Amino acid sequence: MTQDGFSYAFDPSACVSCGGNCCTGESGNIFVSVTEIAAIAKLLEMDEGEFRRTFLRKVVYRYSLKEKVVNGSHDCAFFDRKANGCSIYQARPLQCRTFPFWDYFRHRVDELKAECPGIINE
Ligand code: SF4
Ligand code: SF4
Repeated sequence: MTQDGFSYAFDPSACVSCGGNCCTGESGNIFVSVTEIAAIAKLLEMDEGEFRRTFLRKVVYRYSLKEKVVNGSHDCAFFDRKANGCSIYQARPLQCRTFPFWDYFRHRVDELKAECPGIINE
């Protein structure tokens, strides 16, 4: 998988054995829009207010999914270690859908390769 403007390719088959490096590890923000919040709450069949209180934290003027600490790792609240995947996959936020083709990594390929075993240099 490639994307215009990026010097690397991505092989999604690496996700099977990776253990979700992009959903675990160091603490970070997983930003969600108002539309995405509504979609995730609907998928979980939760009241939107309850979903916000349970799973979101405010970061300045935006909202991020909360994390849970597992063996010292900051896992996204929706990463399922047993299933090795995202438990809200159909409604995962754009930030997750667009990984690993983020502007941040455009010129930081070594940093990205250290995190994601699916990165292939073109
Ligand atoms: S870090 Fe890369 S290989 Fe691992 S789960 Fe995320 S996208 Fe897949
Ligand atoms: S929402 Fe899903 S894909 Fe995104 S960080 Fe959380 S577990 Fe990973």
